[in-house]
Amino acid sequence: MRGIAVLGSTGSIGVSTLDVVARHSDRFKVIALAANRNAAALAEQCRRFEPDYAVMADPAAAVQLRSLVADLPHPPEVLEGAESLDLIAALPEVDDVMAAIVGAAGLRSTLAAAHAGKRLLLANKEALVMSGALLMQAVADSGATLLPIDSEHNAVFQCLPGNHADGLADVGVTRILLTASGGPFREMPREQLLNVTPEQACNHPNWSMGRKISVDSATMMNKGLELIEACWLFATSADRIQVVIHPQSVIHSLVQYIDGSVLAQLGNPDMRTPIAHALAWPDRIDSGVADLDLFAIARLDFQAPDLERFPCLALAYRAAESGGIAPTVMNAANEIAVAAFLDGRIRFLDIAAIVEDALSAMAGRGASPDSIESLLEVDRETRRITERSIVKAV
Ligand code: NAD
Ligand code: MG
Repeated sequence: MRGIAVLGSTGSIGVSTLDVVARHSDRFKVIALAANRNAAALAEQCRRFEPDYAVMADPAAAVQLRSLVADLPHPPEVLEGAESLDLIAALPEVDDVMAAIVGAAGLRSTLAAAHAGKRLLLANKEALVMSGALLMQAVADSGATLLPIDSEHNAVFQCLPGNHADGLADVGVTRILLTASGGPFREMPREQLLNVTPEQACNHPNWSMGRKISVDSATMMNKGLELIEACWLFATSADRIQVVIHPQSVIHSLVQYIDGSVLAQLGNPDMRTPIAHALAWPDRIDSGVADLDLFAIARLDFQAPDLERFPCLALAYRAAESGGIAPTVMNAANEIAVAAFLDGRIRFLDIAAIVEDALSAMAGRGASPDSIESLLEVDRETRRITERSIVKAV
């Protein structure tokens, strides 16, 4: 039996995780669930999964949750606040931590799981983008196991040999090919991109996801974040990673070897596959995902990305190459810009411009990417200047 903590359990990844866990009650016991403020959804999950702990980051929501779970046969201990997320991530009875909080809000608990030597199932890509050096160091120091949940990285992981941590070159890998659906606006001319709405941006053709990552997919910043994520996970540089537009989202990514072989992982676009892979690793378990029907798919297409229409991807390549605090700045500015777009305060194309301005404004700022205090200060400072530039522009 493995003890599981799901951080961000009410979100898209969290719900898919619990769906897989529910299919294998002989293997997994849910020890802790955590979410931001949706007390009703968390209460329902507590009823079904009977965790020992339930955390609401928002204290007012914790009050609500306490009354909602009071009459359950096995009520959880209800905790509140960001510190409680760190606490459940490090509980001795927890073996596996699903890090599925969206954005920088998930950083500390993800780091806490890494420091505690857990098996860390990482969906929260922003944590790795913000603080890749620190997170990878914490994993190495504690002997934690880091397994990627992002479908592309999970695919790459599946296509690599077990000893890939020795270095990709040593195992004969020459390139990683990260596939991207191209999002809802893949074919849209730039003039039309000016006026797209948050609803259109969140209407992804292949994947059903939270709103922040859906907007990131529409701007292709998601692929930019994933590029940086891949650099850290597989100890490689951005010039070894090629982004390939593949509209069907059936090939989740590929690995090119020196002998000309290219290995790919395929499957229906359903996050329960990478989640089940990581939960059971190195075993395989049923995920509930339907078999791939190649005859129904019939064809697979590939295109080069258009960096003019999707400048966020170019910004991410530049941030990956600069290193230092650039990815932290890019991530923070993007979170603020996406939230402003979702609130109707800025237009779609403003997102890339705002991120670019923040990168320029913060360039030359001396800060160590190896200290959490320093990174959090960079994150806060970037959010401040990004908010200011949005207020000025509106
Ligand atoms: P979502 O918006 O559906 O869910 C986010 C979850 O985080 C919710 O449970 C929410 O309550 C919780 N949360 C938000 N702010 C919080 C805070 N301050 N404190 C505690 N909890 C908080 O998002 P999602 O689509 O499930 O994505 C989660 C993460 O997984 C993101 O980093 C995303 O990039 C990554 N990811 C998602 C998918 C996908 O298919 N949805 C695929 C790959 C990677
Ligand atoms: Mg992905």
